[in-house]
Amino acid sequence: MMEIKSDTSIDAMREAGRIVAHALAAVREAAAVGVSLRELDGAARAVLAGAGAGSPFLDYRPNWAPIPFPAVICTSVNDAIVHGIPDHYRLRDGDLVSIDCGATLDGWVGDAAVSFTVGRARPEDVRLIATAEEALQAGIAAAVVGNRIGDIAHAVGRVCRSAGYGIPDGFGGHGIGRHMHEDPGVPNEGRPGRGMTLRHGMVLAIEPMVIGGGTDEHHTAGDGWTIRTTDGSRASHAEHTVAITDDGPRILTAL
Ligand code: MG
Ligand code: MG
Repeated sequence: MMEIKSDTSIDAMREAGRIVAHALAAVREAAAVGVSLRELDGAARAVLAGAGAGSPFLDYRPNWAPIPFPAVICTSVNDAIVHGIPDHYRLRDGDLVSIDCGATLDGWVGDAAVSFTVGRARPEDVRLIATAEEALQAGIAAAVVGNRIGDIAHAVGRVCRSAGYGIPDGFGGHGIGRHMHEDPGVPNEGRPGRGMTLRHGMVLAIEPMVIGGGTDEHHTAGDGWTIRTTDGSRASHAEHTVAITDDGPRILTAL
């Protein structure tokens, strides 16, 4: 179901989103060559605990998942696109890391993701990360009253395709509120003028993912969670939770 949020509810979602932003900033601050993915999860856990927030990721188990998700962030390194499980892997020079984080506060959920490199960045990774960010900004710019879901999808997809990157089908954004995943789905590619009309009070997570190798192919790794590129090329992910308002899009997961 798709719920229209009151202005008061959007303000409450902003507080959940702010905690997500702080957690992502803490993870980014902690990330360095030699630091383990578990340690990054610990940095995010400390922020959530300090803010009195819960995690919508921890113990999340959709029907396709073999185990409940064991962490408060997803850590997707290099050819991992999304849903990577933080383990004992230690970051290496030049790794491209995508971090996805959620927080629940007073029953409201925020969801955001950021990608960055550690150590010496490869120029192609810098471009990949910049493109996902640019696609996110294009999607947010299209998240205005009177537009349709297809306008967001088209804006996101056009940036990714113009740069020559692949887009993993079957993954994308979503409505968000008291649950992490609500209607409507927000695809990362689509036709303008199609889909649900955007109204004041809708809140959406917009989250482009790009595959550097240019193909769309991806698969689920042996852990049942991690989504990897099939060609082994690197991927980048960016996400914000955004409220659609009469005053324009309001990013709820900014610092
Ligand atoms: Mg997310
Ligand atoms: Mg999301």
